[in-house]
Amino acid sequence: MNAGLLDCYDTIIIGGGPVGLFGAYYAGLRDMSVRLVDRRHELGGQLTAIYPEKWVYDMTGIPAIRGKELYKNLVEQTAPYNIPSSLNEEVVLIRKNRNNILCIETRKGTVMHSKTAILCLGMGAHIPRRLDIQNLREFEGKGIHYGVHSLETFRNKRVIVVGGGDSALDLALTIVNDCKDLYVLHRSDRFNAHEETTKKLYASDAEIRTFSELSAIEGNENHLTSATIKNTKTGETTTIEIDEVIIAVGLLFNLEVVQQWGIAMEGNSIIVDHNRQTSIPGIYAAGDIVTYPGKMKLIGTGTAEAMQGINHAKGYIQEKFPYL
Ligand SMILES: Cc1cc2nc3c(=O)[nH]c(=O)nc-3n(C[C@H](O)[C@H](O)[C@H](O)COP(=O)(O)OP(=O)(O)OC[C@H]3O[C@@H](n4cnc5c(N)ncnc54)[C@H](O)[C@@H]3O)c2cc1C
Repeated sequence: MNAGLLDCYDTIIIGGGPVGLFGAYYAGLRDMSVRLVDRRHELGGQLTAIYPEKWVYDMTGIPAIRGKELYKNLVEQTAPYNIPSSLNEEVVLIRKNRNNILCIETRKGTVMHSKTAILCLGMGAHIPRRLDIQNLREFEGKGIHYGVHSLETFRNKRVIVVGGGDSALDLALTIVNDCKDLYVLHRSDRFNAHEETTKKLYASDAEIRTFSELSAIEGNENHLTSATIKNTKTGETTTIEIDEVIIAVGLLFNLEVVQQWGIAMEGNSIIVDHNRQTSIPGIYAAGDIVTYPGKMKLIGTGTAEAMQGINHAKGYIQEKFPYL
């Protein structure tokens, strides 16, 4: 074991989504040495992986901003602190050594050391929930999408968005003015989205098909060409010509590795106290990964949790490691 003093960070933030990025900024502000680690090839979490083109309206003091711009701003905010990041590094193990130093190990075998850690893991790996359609995977990248990475992909196209939650409606509203025809399919007639988002969808040119699900897709070897829509009440089916389909029916949790770390969890979420400390002293968590009574999975709440965790981590370090 070689826990070199100079390599021992005050905190390592695992997960560089919006919450981890803001946490890194805030740790810099609190004069802490910090490193960001993310399993993906780029930072930004869901902002860059799922909705770079979507407008975000609920950031304090920012009336409207696209996901990709918010990401850019977050990176700019951390810039003064020159925070190093390790990308393509999935943390698979966290353990404390006998001196209370955290040893953080990645799948590639890299070991990093820190006095505290802030887990901003979101939902672990972003694995979109797929639909039970036999040839779905065949058309991934050829007309089947799970987010909106570029508006150009959908410009003047016939598009279906599947889903009835905030994500589906947000993505539909992101492209509605650019595509030729947009159909939103939802299995019931109750949307599970913010009221304003639902109203905007009804005010838009999207054709809303409630009690409808995608039951089949067809295409040639290059691309998707048609989709079959089934009425969930009557069983009736209709086939329409289509260019692109966005499936936004949720994300799957892939937190198997986290479950090995000995941290108390409730389902797929990490339990935190009012200081955002986990069941292991010195390990904090923030953002979509955490649970406590009243938790809301939003960027605003996640960033506030990161600040709370870092403030407490600062006190923890002063108490436990006054000499380091
Ligand atoms: C379509 C859509 C629209 C949304 N719109 C809004 C909105 O308008 N306003 C709003 O406030 N919220 C919105 N949200 C929710 C918001 O995106 C999330 O609340 C936010 O991304 C949570 O941030 P996070 O940093 O906790 O997690 P994430 O953004 O999920 O980032 C987690 C990061 O951790 C990394 N990671 C996970 N496990 C490991 C590991 N073991 N090792 C290393 N790295 C790891 C992941 O690769 C990822 O980069 C929306 C979500 C979706 C899907």
